[in-house]
Amino acid sequence: MIRSIYLKNILNYFFVIIVSLILSFVITFFIYQKQVIQMREAETIEQGKGIITLYQRLGEAGFNEYLESLTTIPYEIYVYKRNGLVTKSPQASQTSGFDQKNIDYVLDGGVYRNLSDSGSHHKLIGLPFDDKNERLAMFIKPSLKEQFSQIRKILYTALLLVLFLGISLILVTTRFLVKPIVRVTHATKELAKGNFQIRLPIKSKDEIGELSKSFNFMVEELDKTEQMRKDFVANVSHELQSPLTAIRGMAIALKDGVVEREEEKHYFALIEQESERLSSLTKQLLNLSSLEANQSPFQPKQYRLDRQLRNQLVAMQSLWMEKQLEVDFDIPELKVFADDSLMSQVWSNLFANAIKYNRMNGRITVRGYELDDDVEVVISNTGVGIPQNDLPHIFERFYRVEKAHTRTTESYGLGLAVVKRIIELHNGEISVTSVVGQETVFVVRLAKQGN
Ligand code: ADP
Repeated sequence: MIRSIYLKNILNYFFVIIVSLILSFVITFFIYQKQVIQMREAETIEQGKGIITLYQRLGEAGFNEYLESLTTIPYEIYVYKRNGLVTKSPQASQTSGFDQKNIDYVLDGGVYRNLSDSGSHHKLIGLPFDDKNERLAMFIKPSLKEQFSQIRKILYTALLLVLFLGISLILVTTRFLVKPIVRVTHATKELAKGNFQIRLPIKSKDEIGELSKSFNFMVEELDKTEQMRKDFVANVSHELQSPLTAIRGMAIALKDGVVEREEEKHYFALIEQESERLSSLTKQLLNLSSLEANQSPFQPKQYRLDRQLRNQLVAMQSLWMEKQLEVDFDIPELKVFADDSLMSQVWSNLFANAIKYNRMNGRITVRGYELDDDVEVVISNTGVGIPQNDLPHIFERFYRVEKAHTRTTESYGLGLAVVKRIIELHNGEISVTSVVGQETVFVVRLAKQGN
């Protein structure tokens, strides 16, 4: 198994280059071999004509002398008459094997061409001519071997050069190609170690550039989640710590008998209150974490939302009556597709806040509208309001606008986080607007029908 992607790439390129070179060599050689043979044929015929003229001018004896004086000519020459060989060039090797049929064909006036016949060893050109009223046949056998070996040499050189240059370039360019991948691997390892500061440079717009972009985005998201997790743990510890410290302090005081008799009851009541606070906090945390882990059963169905809202308000009547709030409820018949038990948590939390953060003799207004595909519920209340700076954060876990003032049994800054999560589960929307000291408005949108 080859482990380095660099090595894999190089071997891959080598394979491709070598196979393409061999193929191109074979193909080129065959294409050019044919062309060279055709050219050689025409050339040889021309040369043959020249030699014939020379023969006619010099006569047989003179021609023989001339041939002998030539030491190197790139072809062999044979001259035939009807009754046999007249003369041949000194380096002519082949004396036998000339087919009488071919000799006769030329002596009868035909031009014999046989350079391209690869199977035959008679690669010859035969030309008829007359000398002193006698018909003769001149056969010329060009040395093709040399020609082809030259072509081969040129091809070999070119191909070797391509191989050498190609491989050198591949060694260099592959390094560049592989570098970003090595960088990604390194960054991933760093991330695994918990380094959320690591980022990849985005140098190109190709797939690697896209990968780097996605990687950076993923790291940012992980960083945020990690930060949220840390904050969450810190918040939970803090929220658990304060009632526990109070309970412990009071228990010690009671145990040591430093509390007056008439105060004892009050201390026990405080311990009970703090334990309730702890129990309520852990319940809310469990609820939120099961919602976030998608462990709560989610069973949406169509039901009458207006009825659910009315019932919820009625159930909380004692709370709003306590503050002498005026409740203005005006909702037409509205059907919604949702999980009614989860949604009842939403309305309960929103109404509880509308009461809790209201002023004495304030007002709560609840309206409902039917839109094309959705229904919209608007819950507004008078009271302290929420400063603009806090608005973007109020759906975060443990976020409270004024922590010191809201430390009551029910107040942990978890209510709206639960609301938001449930609305998200329904693919709905929730938004908030507020004017400090006057009014806070929550708008919830839910689908009328399931998809
Ligand atoms: P809490 O348990 O503190 O009510 P929530 O998550 O329900 O937590 O709300 C977060 C914060 O948003 C509250 O601390 C409060 O300051 C603010 N808030 C929520 N609802 C309202 C409202 N109807 N009117 C004014 N302030 C609100």
